[in-house]
Formats: sequence, structure tokens, C-alpha cells
Amino acid sequence: DVAKEKELREAEALMEKNVLLTSIDKILNWGRGHSFWPVTFGLACCAIEMMAAGGPRVDISRFGYEVFRASPRHADVMVVAGTCTRKMAPLLRMIYDQMAEPKWVIAMGSCASAGGPFADSYSMLTGVDKIVPVDVYIPGCPPRPESLVYGLLQLQYKVNHPDKVRLLKHGK
Ligand code: SF4
Repeated sequence: DVAKEKELREAEALMEKNVLLTSIDKILNWGRGHSFWPVTFGLACCAIEMMAAGGPRVDISRFGYEVFRASPRHADVMVVAGTCTRKMAPLLRMIYDQMAEPKWVIAMGSCASAGGPFADSYSMLTGVDKIVPVDVYIPGCPPRPESLVYGLLQLQYKVNHPDKVRLLKHGK
């Protein structure tokens, strides 16, 4: 009947619209995952390894991630490399809030991930995930520059495959 036909047409139109949106999302995510713009957030020794990742030997420019920005407004990935104290924590959060959306955080090294060798200190934040959402944790004290490249590629996978990541996290 007419009502059913109308319903069917509406459903088809909606489906076409969603398919188009899904395709655009895929293209946007592909672009995002191949051109992260990291904000400089070196806090201690791990930062030296982060800097080395930008040098000619490891050369993260091969992957499109070499443009470290001094302004959070020009960045979409925060690489927290080093020891984050409780005093520094509000500033870290403020810089994160100023970054462009969509944005991601990488905790580089055991200090940024969980406090590292200073975890027992009263002044230490035991993991930056207490104040910002962390997408990728890179173990090590310090992790090698190659580990940062691997971490960035893991983030690229996460950005390019949101459905698979959701499946792994929640099982649906
Ligand atoms: Fe330094 Fe190790 Fe902490 Fe990195 S994880 S900031 S190398 S103490």
C-alpha cells in the first residue's frame, strides 16, 4: 500500500545518506591518521627520545607526523613525554582543552603512563590518564624513538578503525 511504499522510500533515502556519511568519515579518518600534528609536551628524559624520533635516523616525517607545534590550537595529538608532577597537571589539562577537535593523547614512557620510578613521591601524578583521556600508552624508561613511531601507528589504526576498536573494548 501507499503508506508502506512511502516508509520504504524514506528508509532507502536514510540509508543512502548514512552510507555517504560513513564514506566521508572514512576518508576524513584516513587523512587524520596520516597527518597527526603533535603538540610539544616534553617534561623530562623521555622528551629526548621524542626529539630523536623527529631526527633523520628515525624520521617520523616518513609517516607524516613531523610537524610538532608550539601552539595547542594547531595540534591534534599530545605526546606527554616525561614526568608529570601534580603542580604541572592543571597546565597539562589546560593545554589539552585548547587543542583542536578531534584530539588524542599518547602517554610516552612509564612516568607519563603510571608515575614510573617516582610513583611513590607525594609530588607525582601517577599517570596522566588521571587528568586527560589517554589513547595509547608506550611502555619503557625511556621508550626508544622507534617505540614512539609504533605508538603513533597504533593511534593511526585506532583512528582509521573506530568500529574494530569499539569491538575490542566493549565486545559489541
Ligand atoms: Fe625519565 Fe624514565 Fe620517566 Fe621517561 S619514564 S621521564 S626516561 S624516568
